[in-house]
Amino acid sequence: MAATELQHTLAKSAGLTGTALHTGEKVTLRLLPAPIDHGIKFKRKDLADEPTIDANIGNLKTVERATTIGEGAVRVHTVEHVLSALSAMGVDNAIVEMDANEPPIGDGSAAPYVEVIKKAGTLAQEASRRFFDVRDPIHIESKNGSLVVLLPDPKFRISCTQAGPNNRFTQFYSAEITPSVFEREIAPARTFVYYEDVQPLMEKNLIKGGSLENAIVVRGEAVLSKEPLRFADEFARHKVLDIIGDLALVGTRVRGHIIAVRPGHGVNAELARAIVKEHAKIAALSVPRSFPPGEGGLDIAQVMEILPHRFPFLMVDRILGFEGETKCTGLKTVTINEPYFEGHFPGHPVMPGVLQVEAMAQVASILLMKLAKSASRIGYFMSADEVKFRKPVFPGDTLFIHAELIKARSNRLAKAHCSCVVNDAVVSEGDLMFTFLDK
Ligand SMILES: [Zn+2]
Repeated sequence: MAATELQHTLAKSAGLTGTALHTGEKVTLRLLPAPIDHGIKFKRKDLADEPTIDANIGNLKTVERATTIGEGAVRVHTVEHVLSALSAMGVDNAIVEMDANEPPIGDGSAAPYVEVIKKAGTLAQEASRRFFDVRDPIHIESKNGSLVVLLPDPKFRISCTQAGPNNRFTQFYSAEITPSVFEREIAPARTFVYYEDVQPLMEKNLIKGGSLENAIVVRGEAVLSKEPLRFADEFARHKVLDIIGDLALVGTRVRGHIIAVRPGHGVNAELARAIVKEHAKIAALSVPRSFPPGEGGLDIAQVMEILPHRFPFLMVDRILGFEGETKCTGLKTVTINEPYFEGHFPGHPVMPGVLQVEAMAQVASILLMKLAKSASRIGYFMSADEVKFRKPVFPGDTLFIHAELIKARSNRLAKAHCSCVVNDAVVSEGDLMFTFLDK
């Protein structure tokens, strides 16, 4: 396990002024410090109430030519270059304040943002960084020939091949992404466009701020730009820059190796989505636990700190108490608002038996987690034996859920006898087996 890395924000505010690519208007962008776990948020200073937009994949709106995020009716376009710089330069928490709907395009690279970040300086915060460590490969492919694969790797590494139409300008670039590599080798790589792609946009007047000062235009075999190419493989490097920016929408840092073939914002965003999904799955299996001492009960907030389940899959409202080391009782109020009553069964609502088993498993896992001495292990619900459903459970019933540990074989397996009780009568019961695995 690597040493704990701390979250960082900016030491002070800093900004820059430039031209917005799409509107051609002047825009001022400022980067501001933000507290622990804040993440990156964009703030529209030009709108009433100055709304903020969280830079997360759930807010992704469009990926055509640039990455656009939004909340409600508010949008921020072309967020990938500033996000790339913040992420790669090690800024976890910041506010990106702008007086327009997109950042200044600068020279089409991320170098101007790196300058602003260095001007502001970064500051360590007293909380550890969150990481997504790749366990199983993730693979995304698009119809137009883009491909990204994410493989396990102890470092954050990107290898990218880029090829234009008819394989013109085929390039390859690979690097471990660190702040110094980013600043020197990736941030200066500029946006490039194919003449055949931008000509219709220019005709529609959609890129008013576009010029050879902020993009390289590729026309046939010719490269048109204000200055010569900064790197022989500048296009592949810019693709890497874009990948880092789009993956910043994951919200946690990624430790893994991305292999990208002709990537674009579309597949990058899909990869970000897949990572978030996978991360949620893993996080659900390894929640931190903190038990108040003694045999007292747990309220709903404490239950939710221990169990990863949420409505409608959280089947325990509170824990009434523990008895010694082996017994635990939970409570669940069954209301007509439970979503399953809509389909199980209309006109004659009864609580599904499998959900009672789930309720037993949740109470039993709370008991097992309280018992487990080591926080590095988690219990998985393995099987259920001798399950019997004795009486129907109706809306309005209060379910008392009992779990009693009857066997803890080796320290890998545990068995709990569980029952659900309504009005002093057992409505369902069963023996549930759990296994412990190291996280
Ligand atoms: Zn770009």
